[in-house]
Amino acid sequence: MSVVALDVGGTLMKGAVVAPDGTSTAAEQRPTLRQPDTVEGILAFAADLVAAAGTPDAVGLAVPGIVDEQNGIARYSTNLGWRDLPLRAIATERLGLPVALVHDVRAGALAEAEFGAAQGMQDFLFLPIGTGIAGTAVIGGRPYRGADGMAGEIGHSPVPVGDEPCACGQRGCLETYASAAALVRRYGTPGVTAADVITSTDPKARAVVADAICALSYALTTYTMLLDPAVIVIGGGLAEAGDTLMEPLRAELAARIAWRMPPRVVKAALGATAGRLGAAISAWRLG
Ligand SMILES: [Zn+2]
Repeated sequence: MSVVALDVGGTLMKGAVVAPDGTSTAAEQRPTLRQPDTVEGILAFAADLVAAAGTPDAVGLAVPGIVDEQNGIARYSTNLGWRDLPLRAIATERLGLPVALVHDVRAGALAEAEFGAAQGMQDFLFLPIGTGIAGTAVIGGRPYRGADGMAGEIGHSPVPVGDEPCACGQRGCLETYASAAALVRRYGTPGVTAADVITSTDPKARAVVADAICALSYALTTYTMLLDPAVIVIGGGLAEAGDTLMEPLRAELAARIAWRMPPRVVKAALGATAGRLGAAISAWRLG
């Protein structure tokens, strides 16, 4: 049963036709169109992939922001500028196929559970660290959505590192110290990337990275105490730093947690394809 899968990001859409073993064909990227053309861009891309697939069984769409998966409604996205958009109904009508609408981070978690770093795990945290930080708590094998689809916003939990203002309106959020954007902003040298900051030997860069590790270790300790994950899967752009980031994070988490074993902390296995694969998994599960 092949499906069409599309991961819609703030700047890029990643699409493919995906087979049940997770292999992709017709993989393609297109820029995400600005409003008012965003939805048309998504639908046109999906329609082209449906044509490439021949007779796909379903379509999976992963989108950012706040997503009501039950009702197929893209509730809100700052980046894409939509609000209460009945995207599943619109796409079903246009494409003539069953459509699954899924939150992009939850899609990534589904993919890591099925094909990636959390295979066989019933309880884990999938935590992509990029421009921002938002995670998915997988509890008992299911991505936890919360009462209003807003679960997983651990990036906006406060950490005792400082009280720098966050774009969300609060102060001292994890995201203000540990996101890729925060590393760049706090280091403050133009043209320097988050990866540069992580590998730099400059004392100012070391201090910025130390704050990030400290902030993450606090947030992950809280998560561990509340939900007892088997593994914490770090994804997103910052995970590409690999053990340069993971080793000190594991050490600081282990040092902070006194009376139990800390969960394993690993790098996500699927990288930038996780959202698309998760969209495919959501589409298969319609059948
Ligand atoms: Zn915040």
